[in-house]
Amino acid sequence: MTELRRRRDETRSEECWRIYYGDVHVGTIAARTGGPRDEAKWDWKCGFYPGIEPGEHRSGSAETFPEARAEFEAAWQALLPARTDADFQAWRDAQALTAWKYAMWEAGAKLPTQTTSGVSRCFCGATIDIAGTDRHVLDAHSEMRTA
Ligand SMILES: [Zn+2]
Repeated sequence: MTELRRRRDETRSEECWRIYYGDVHVGTIAARTGGPRDEAKWDWKCGFYPGIEPGEHRSGSAETFPEARAEFEAAWQALLPARTDADFQAWRDAQALTAWKYAMWEAGAKLPTQTTSGVSRCFCGATIDIAGTDRHVLDAHSEMRTA
């Protein structure tokens, strides 16, 4: 059975943990900054998109990190039974497409949607059109899923 793991998000100044289920980023637990002292100190969000509709995502807040973690885990256990492999795959595919767009941008290449002909050349050399972009990325650049 896949366990939840957490990884510190070093890009944030406040303490923030990204929660992973396998390779899928399924939520965050973060210290709240600012605000009155009597407010709860930790916010958590559970859900991923695409894969779980935003209306199904859950969130809450707690006084302590262990409480936030326990609430997060309970929320995840409620969401997990309805998840299918296709839900997780949808998230991985979206990650690959985003990473690929950044790689195209860094390579100075245009996306097919940015050309008048609707045809462009991938940084790998392949000719791509608008309809075939997703298929090309997922077939030829699937390693970008975890980038
Ligand atoms: Zn390519």
